[in-house]
Amino acid sequence: MDREETAAAPLGDAGGLDTYRLDRMTWRDVDRATGSTSTLLVPVGATEQHGHHLPLGVDTLMPEAIAERIAERVPALVAPSIPYGVSSHHTFKPGTFTVGSETFRSYVRDVAASAADWGIESVLLLNGHYLAQDPELEVVVRDLRIDHDLDAFHVPLVNVFSDAAARVRDSTTTFHASEFETSLMLALYPDLVRMDEAEAVEPPADSLPLTAYDALGDNRVGWALSADDMAALTHTGNLGDPTTATREKGEALAAEAVDNVVELVRALEAGERNR
Ligand SMILES: [Zn+2]
Repeated sequence: MDREETAAAPLGDAGGLDTYRLDRMTWRDVDRATGSTSTLLVPVGATEQHGHHLPLGVDTLMPEAIAERIAERVPALVAPSIPYGVSSHHTFKPGTFTVGSETFRSYVRDVAASAADWGIESVLLLNGHYLAQDPELEVVVRDLRIDHDLDAFHVPLVNVFSDAAARVRDSTTTFHASEFETSLMLALYPDLVRMDEAEAVEPPADSLPLTAYDALGDNRVGWALSADDMAALTHTGNLGDPTTATREKGEALAAEAVDNVVELVRALEAGERNR
């Protein structure tokens, strides 16, 4: 089968853009779709404070929109998102939900493992709450591979847009609700961003040795922030300078994330067909 031809063909017969979204499909749609793809994209997010200028759902909204863009380019199903994550360090502001590390791991693992029963062979966990819940999702991926025979991948968004991020970046620190997330939101959900309320908050220059307050930072030792730490570091809730964000930067980040994951899905689908 010609790969390019397959990649360009939308799933299902309805022809709409939503034929890959499981929450809008019937079980018979899914049954048909798994004849054309064995890949499931699971947006994994959080509901937590993102400063004065961004909504609580940023970490879920970003991977959701990126998953949809991926599924418009390559055959893949998009699962309903996981909207609650490990956010204990953000509970110093209202509206934040958090679940324990073990609860989160079990829940995401069970959700993803369900798909193995109906023809899914590859699961990509698109992590919009990157850095904070990377450890949990690395363990989930290992469990899915070992215990459920799924080709599972942890895809932190920051890792798949890191080249574009290094290229477009203007701010010194971009850690939470700052240049990258605000730019992505300006590209994906402009109506939800209040740029007039965005404010730069810089963490102390003398951060702990071997650690960095930066999404692209090279942390050489593992560490985490508590809610008290965050409350002491930022009065708005963001860390970094969101005023440097633009829609164009966000488009560049989203485009690179989509291109990279599309490439991975194509490789997985091609490999599975040749098996
Ligand atoms: Zn976030």
